[in-house]
Amino acid sequence: MNPSNPEGPPTTAGPSNFVRDIIIDDLKSNKFGGRVHTRFPPEPNGYLHIGHAKSICLNFGLADEFGGKTNLRFDDTNPSKEETEYVDSIMENVHWLGFEWDGLFYASDYFGQLYEWALKMIREGKAYVCDLSAEEVRLTRGTLTEPGKESPYRNRPVEENLDLFERMKAGEFADGARTLRAKVDMASPNLNMRDPVMYRILHADHHRTGDKWCIYPMYDYAHGQSDSIEGITHSICTLEFEDHRPLYDWYVEALGIYHPQQIEFDRLNITYTLLSKRKLLTLVQEGRVRGWDDPRMPTLAGIRRRGYPPEAIRNFCGAIGVSKTNGTIELGLLEHHVREDLNRRAPRAMAVLRPLRVVIDNYPEGQTEEMEAVNNPEDASAGTRLVPFSRVLYIEQDDFREVPPPKYFRLSPGKEVRLRYGYFITCTGVVKDEKGDVVEIHCTYDPATHGGNAPDGRKVKSTIHWVSAAHAIEAEVRMYDNLFLKEDPNETEEGQDFTANLNPHSLEILSDAKLEPSLANARAGDRFQFERLGYFSVDPDSAGGTLVFNRTAGLKDTWAKIEQRAKGKK
Ligand code: ATP
Ligand code: MG
Repeated sequence: MNPSNPEGPPTTAGPSNFVRDIIIDDLKSNKFGGRVHTRFPPEPNGYLHIGHAKSICLNFGLADEFGGKTNLRFDDTNPSKEETEYVDSIMENVHWLGFEWDGLFYASDYFGQLYEWALKMIREGKAYVCDLSAEEVRLTRGTLTEPGKESPYRNRPVEENLDLFERMKAGEFADGARTLRAKVDMASPNLNMRDPVMYRILHADHHRTGDKWCIYPMYDYAHGQSDSIEGITHSICTLEFEDHRPLYDWYVEALGIYHPQQIEFDRLNITYTLLSKRKLLTLVQEGRVRGWDDPRMPTLAGIRRRGYPPEAIRNFCGAIGVSKTNGTIELGLLEHHVREDLNRRAPRAMAVLRPLRVVIDNYPEGQTEEMEAVNNPEDASAGTRLVPFSRVLYIEQDDFREVPPPKYFRLSPGKEVRLRYGYFITCTGVVKDEKGDVVEIHCTYDPATHGGNAPDGRKVKSTIHWVSAAHAIEAEVRMYDNLFLKEDPNETEEGQDFTANLNPHSLEILSDAKLEPSLANARAGDRFQFERLGYFSVDPDSAGGTLVFNRTAGLKDTWAKIEQRAKGKK
């Protein structure tokens, strides 16, 4: 499917894609001796998000399909931003998505080897120590139309380079005082090839190597060689690395080591969603959300807490496919896959989020009946349960109007509706408080309509849900809306940043919800469909005693609507 054309049909899984085709060709030509070995290489500087899920599904999925292997490798070359908390969360998230890595590695495992290789490059005249400052390196780099200027240190004798590089490593120089640069080509049309920096001085503690090193390899110098060391066959990354591929290739060729194939695919973008760790970190640090796992966050920790099943994420990633051009996927498509999965699996329950008391005047006081309710109409094996019915119930405030607008078929004075799995009731009166707000309504029921059907065949236009007041359990329900108001959260007025597009109403807390008693045993992570309302999952905060539910998704499928509209146009 064309990701920039949301009106195209959402394809199902269709695992065929150009990356897979390359692998099939390589298997045919025996390029890597019949091996398929991929890797997922996160930098542990934040939590994984749904964009990473696309990369994970692709890398692990392809290896699985061809009987290959996938490594998890932490690209931990930047000590100042990396933390063990992120390493732990990344491992947990990959497992949660349903994948198991073969090798677990850290780029920092290779610091020693990378250093040896740097010495080799210096000896062979392929690298030099440069005394220009970062700013000077930038200024002499040239532009897309002009070549760069060679560093005055470019032709330093090998011995001097070796001496200086060893002293850089020994900690003799201040941060930024010198760098090690590859001697490639200052006139290359590709700016990445203009004597890129290989090592910089940084006196910083590393989450794994502590203070052992005060020089750190740059990403481009570390990445391809890490792939090479691990025997990766297909190094799959996002399109912004396409211009880095010549450098990737140059390093492994210059070192004469095993050469993996880098392949670039399109980065996932989703409407109303930010997929940048740096910006997500800002949201966390500024307290705009409750943490990395806030259910409004597009992090895997966040959507997991929100109730998105890992199967739905995998299906979504299969459906969007991979391509060679960047586009943006409709948020509705992700939600569509969440609903599709939950519709099949989530047990149904009745819950009233904004309660209105209903008294059924002709129902015997003190009587309780157990009404049989279907657990999942999509799954007969899920069976039925009993829901208590009594004289005083709660219904949604929204399901009653004292003065019904046109086409309002739910409850209003004189009107009859069906209580799901209950009886037909007719509204006979309302009770108001001193402000004039309706606080209670009175009804009568028809005992002949037990279970929700009238023996005389008369119809009602509406069926509403309810909870027996005497049996209800209390809960807090957290309703979520998009975190951003704009389709592209990065589109801002001058002088503003993406936080200006935050939706002030992305979280609404309903603290007076009433649930049917069967939900008393629900545990953190359990998912339900609250009839007529949507999908909800139990939040870990429930451990405190009060049940807390997150709204995972509403019932309305905006994606299905988009599809229908598209069909209508054809
Ligand atoms: P960010 O810019 O959010 O920090 P990143 O690319 O720097 O993202 P990494 O930890 O380096 O984050 O990403 C690990 C892997 O996941 C990389 O191979 C990267 O290409 C891939 N990845 C990251 N974001 C996306 C995305 N939005 N869509 C697809 N793949 C992604
Ligand atoms: Mg990156």
